[in-house]
Amino acid sequence: MRIDLHTHSTASDGTTSPVDLVRAAAATGLDVVALTDHDTTAGWAGAAEALPPGLTLVPGAELSCVWPAPDGRVIGMHLLAYLFDPAEPVLRAERARVRDGRIVRARRMVELMQADGYPVRWDDVLREAAGGPVGRPHVARALVRHRLVADVASAFTPEWIGRGGRYRVVKPDTEVVDAIRMVRAAGGVPVVAHPLAAARGAVVPAEAYAAMAAAGLAGLEADHLDHDADARRRTREIAADHGLLVTGSSDFHGANKAVALGAATTDPAVYEELLDQATGSAPVAA
Ligand SMILES: [Zn+2]
Ligand SMILES: [Zn+2]
Repeated sequence: MRIDLHTHSTASDGTTSPVDLVRAAAATGLDVVALTDHDTTAGWAGAAEALPPGLTLVPGAELSCVWPAPDGRVIGMHLLAYLFDPAEPVLRAERARVRDGRIVRARRMVELMQADGYPVRWDDVLREAAGGPVGRPHVARALVRHRLVADVASAFTPEWIGRGGRYRVVKPDTEVVDAIRMVRAAGGVPVVAHPLAAARGAVVPAEAYAAMAAAGLAGLEADHLDHDADARRRTREIAADHGLLVTGSSDFHGANKAVALGAATTDPAVYEELLDQATGSAPVAA
């Protein structure tokens, strides 16, 4: 069994439609694929309808969260949520609140660039998002389109919208312990995505996971492109300390990231344990 529990479609910041994503997952030999777009379930129906025989779809989302450090810093985190009830009102309202925050933030970035004399317009960003939720990659692509940067990666720098960037604007994401409780209350199973991906910014210290485990966290994603061998080993140690499961996944984004579907996978026994904990929705098989 080849199981990839973390992918993005055009419903968030991937470049592959939900339909094409499940077809590609089957073509690459996956048995199980989770669709985990950022803060949205908009891709679930399309992926389910197009599901090829032999492939199981795990409906999910990747929730934008923060961990407030005792020293006052706010550290961004991503929480994978599997098999929750998409209609459960509290979690649904929170997804909408976070998505709206993305729009406010992207608009503000454009305003700051315009104030410095750059010709980027909000319409340009909306066009890049093509009707999906607006995110920083769409702002980045608008910068590429205007030849202000050479490529998307060059936009994620301190000159532009990267870490410490001149035009970076923070958004009001969910406190991770609250998010874990919301996912559980909606019948879902929460797993922290790429917990030690230091290249993305500050990471949460190991001691913070006690409170998350107590709130109902199920697992940690260890095998991920942004984790080197040491980060994978340390993630497994944190998981062992708190009785958490360990997953692996590609975090596929289509052409937005150079990683293939199934580049990392999850152990079938771990997958079964995640399924056993889920009550909000069921995996879909054709
Ligand atoms: Zn992520
Ligand atoms: Zn992701």
